[in-house]
Amino acid sequence: MMLEDVDLQLISDVARTLVALDEIDDLLSFCLPYPPIAQRTLDRIVLTCLVDEATPPGSLPGLVKWCHERPLLKWPLDLPSEVFSEESLLLDPSSGVLTELCVELAQLAGSRTPLGEAATIMNDAKPGLTRQENQEDYCELRRFLVDSPVLDNEVMRQVGFTVDVGRFDELLSSLYQPASARYERDGGLISCRECGDLMASVGDDDWSCEREACRRTGHQEIGKIWLASENVRHLPRRHRQFVGGPARVAIRLAGHPELLAMPGLRVDLWPGLGEYDLRITTPDGVEATVRVLDWHNPALLGMASRESGDRQTLHVVPDYRIDRDPNYIATVVRWDGGDATRFCSESELIRRIQDLYRKGGHGA
Ligand SMILES: [Zn+2]
Repeated sequence: MMLEDVDLQLISDVARTLVALDEIDDLLSFCLPYPPIAQRTLDRIVLTCLVDEATPPGSLPGLVKWCHERPLLKWPLDLPSEVFSEESLLLDPSSGVLTELCVELAQLAGSRTPLGEAATIMNDAKPGLTRQENQEDYCELRRFLVDSPVLDNEVMRQVGFTVDVGRFDELLSSLYQPASARYERDGGLISCRECGDLMASVGDDDWSCEREACRRTGHQEIGKIWLASENVRHLPRRHRQFVGGPARVAIRLAGHPELLAMPGLRVDLWPGLGEYDLRITTPDGVEATVRVLDWHNPALLGMASRESGDRQTLHVVPDYRIDRDPNYIATVVRWDGGDATRFCSESELIRRIQDLYRKGGHGA
């Protein structure tokens, strides 16, 4: 996607640099020569600072330190204050992992269709599947990825004997990647009890989950513990953020008691091998297709959805985003510039389906 604002484009390239470094290895252990995007971005930041008579970062590690410590609105750039807040950082100040904002900026700048590309990360699972025969297998695989965010030797052995996902053995081996050093402390790794994914080490005695959905309650409980020698693997960051997070919400919605309480209502999870997250059909055949979008930054989500071209699908945002920012949907709509009714919260979706159901002469 082409971002029109020069400084927004530059900070997005900083985000892309961090994502590229994160995919190589631990952000704190990189060495020369830097990846091309890193050197190019550092040069542009230094030039911008010199033009503005500000002190530039002296090196790539210096730039990374800025990302840790300096909120975006404090950079010597003219960034829109209606997009970012005083707390907007590219790296989590305590754990050093990429913030959700950073991954979203990188996605927005690095793709012509940011939402479409994020939704097709699962395309690797499609070859060999035909629509009718294998929809069930596909759903089984998606549920497995949500239920097993971390694989160790024992889970892999069980997978080999499981009929449902055993056929995806090779795909699973390529999807899951070894956990990097930042998830390890004193020879151990720990998962978050809420989502089951690995938590990053913070200081000498604390851990932090990268998901804002897990951090919103303030305290984070420990789930499972592994030894580093147990060959622990987990899904890549973009998958965790753009596929895993929304999948949890889609599963929650598919089993929502209010939907289950409407006899004859049909709810399909990931129909068309993941073409949508949900397809909801009323007894008289009225259909609503839903895509769940769980973005930290509503302005960036609006910019991303403006590029998607999909004007029919309902874009549903998890309730916890709205609880934190009551203006979230209004901000998305403002930056999207399209039909406001295309966006709603989880709760609003349930209300809309209830209305559709009653209009068809069903229910009370
Ligand atoms: Zn978590």
